[in-house]
Amino acid sequence: MTIVKNCEKCDAPFTTRSITSSRWERLCYTCYSEKRKANIISNMEDKNERKLTSIEDRMITLEEMVNNHIPAIVSAEVNNHIEHHMGQDIVNSIAKRAQDSISDSIQNLIERQIKFEAKIQRQLTTLNNKVLKILKELGDKNDR
Ligand SMILES: [Zn+2]
Repeated sequence: MTIVKNCEKCDAPFTTRSITSSRWERLCYTCYSEKRKANIISNMEDKNERKLTSIEDRMITLEEMVNNHIPAIVSAEVNNHIEHHMGQDIVNSIAKRAQDSISDSIQNLIERQIKFEAKIQRQLTTLNNKVLKILKELGDKNDR
């Protein structure tokens, strides 16, 4: 036994699945499946967005750590241990080499981050396309 109600979204009359479901069914089949599809896609996007954000946060923290602390540590080490034993030009040259090596490491990190983001982006696109294809197939099946 079913009941005919009007869809709360498009106002079209629809038949409820059963007499019990008529108490909570508010949308016609079309509006209901539209809503479900939209939810699936938006949940997936939210999840990927959160993942990307957390990766970005970690990369930013790492970069800040490298930028702020390591040069200071290296420079303090250099000053503490060799300042009194070597000429200033040697100290400068060691400090410069340390600085160059840190710059290379940062450059490396940034390049790896860019590649990683591109990979995530490709996976995200593939995943989205798959979901759209599945939803389309589901839609076609339901139309028949
Ligand atoms: Zn409707």
